[in-house]
Amino acid sequence: MKIYNTLTNQKEEFVPVHEGKVGMYVCGPTVYNYIHIGNARPMVVFDTVRRYFEYKGYDVNYVSNFTDVDDKIIKKALEEGVDASEISEKYIKECEKDMQALNVKEATHHPKATEEIDGMIEMIQELIDKGFAYEKNGTVYFRTRKFDHYGQLSNKNLDDMMAGIRIAVSDEKDDAMDFVLWKPKKEGEPSWPSPWGEGRPGWHIECSVMSRKYIGDTIDIHAGGEDLIFPHHENEIAQSEACNGEKFANYWMHNGFLNIDNKKMSKSAGNFFTVREIGEKYPLQVIRFFMLSAHYRSPLNFSDTLVEAAKNGLERILTAVDHLRDLLEDKKGQSADLSEKDEKNMEEAKALVAKFEASMEDDFNTADAIAAVFELVKLANVTAADGSLGYVQYLYDTIVKLCDILGIITEKKEEMLDADIEALIEERQAARKAKNFARADEIRDMLAEKGIILEDTRAGVKWKRA
Ligand code: AMP
Ligand code: ZN
Repeated sequence: MKIYNTLTNQKEEFVPVHEGKVGMYVCGPTVYNYIHIGNARPMVVFDTVRRYFEYKGYDVNYVSNFTDVDDKIIKKALEEGVDASEISEKYIKECEKDMQALNVKEATHHPKATEEIDGMIEMIQELIDKGFAYEKNGTVYFRTRKFDHYGQLSNKNLDDMMAGIRIAVSDEKDDAMDFVLWKPKKEGEPSWPSPWGEGRPGWHIECSVMSRKYIGDTIDIHAGGEDLIFPHHENEIAQSEACNGEKFANYWMHNGFLNIDNKKMSKSAGNFFTVREIGEKYPLQVIRFFMLSAHYRSPLNFSDTLVEAAKNGLERILTAVDHLRDLLEDKKGQSADLSEKDEKNMEEAKALVAKFEASMEDDFNTADAIAAVFELVKLANVTAADGSLGYVQYLYDTIVKLCDILGIITEKKEEMLDADIEALIEERQAARKAKNFARADEIRDMLAEKGIILEDTRAGVKWKRA
């Protein structure tokens, strides 16, 4: 299996630290709002990587964090006059709902920064003891120049970086490139006691601590969006390797950015969408399929036209699976023996499975893997009706299995009756009137799960099936 490694800028054969096991760490979201559609890309992409490893028989330890203490969370909490933890807890729950709707498997460990403060203090102390960090007025800095390999991931060199930096006269750091490990408390901010006074950790240290704790000193794969290469991942390497004296991660995987109509997503430009908003327009399964229809390292352009195309493509696959299911029912009790023609067709189908696997093993080329699924669907559409029960069963099991690697659910959703939907909508309206928004949201989520999309219009609530 080949993986493009950002550390070496080339595709490399995957060799795990421990045979048969994969330890992977994926940097998770900062929870101060609903996750946006760009945040969903690494979740979907690396969940698919995990699913493929599992398909190949690996035991995957998948760790992904929630950054639940951060400037943005604190700002939002101050604006809303609530505790920072209230904001982060709310959005962790909302993020989990979105991940579930995107069929992202639950992580083996999903640690929160605020629950790992002791480990962070420990690692910072170890770095101080080893001469890689120092304290000034309650702030602890990492001594970047002491770490020889700094810049290896982002291909940057410290002196070039220095040229681009304006050095403030008031700067208390020993060197402008030094970065913060611990910062002192400011009024109204969450804080924890530490050997350097009350304060809170810098952002980078949490990932070094959590990957060591939940996976080990050396992890197989570290992943995240490409914006994290510098400084976040560069700093993680410096902290972990300086502290542990071992290589931090063998393979670094980075997904490309998702843009909207070829423009960077931004609130001020008005082209910023949360997963929740998009989920009201499309089933999130379509969004997952759309994301996998491009290579994970390429930029991905999100537009209605492209999502519509993905929707049609997915429909073709799901219709074929439904058709195979019906055929299995029709052929129940018949002989499963393969005819000569079935044998020949099965050979062709097996070659397509091999093509799917070869694509996935070439740096997780899901675009080509999906092309192989389409070919398989085409073969099924042409040959299944005349095939034996054994052949149809093989086609059905195979397509379902490959879809499962992509995280596409092929089971038929139970259809809800119109009257039941309308009764629930009425109950939601009543709940809203009574300001019971929790129940109102619950009903909306329940309907969304059944593929029912609600639209609040001036004329009242309209609904449609996705
Ligand atoms: P953040 O909450 O900003 O730390 O982001 C969480 C994850 O989403 C990180 O892996 C980011 O690299 C990734 N990410 C953020 N914006 C985008 C985007 N527009 N496209 C793809 N990935 C993104
Ligand atoms: Zn991280």
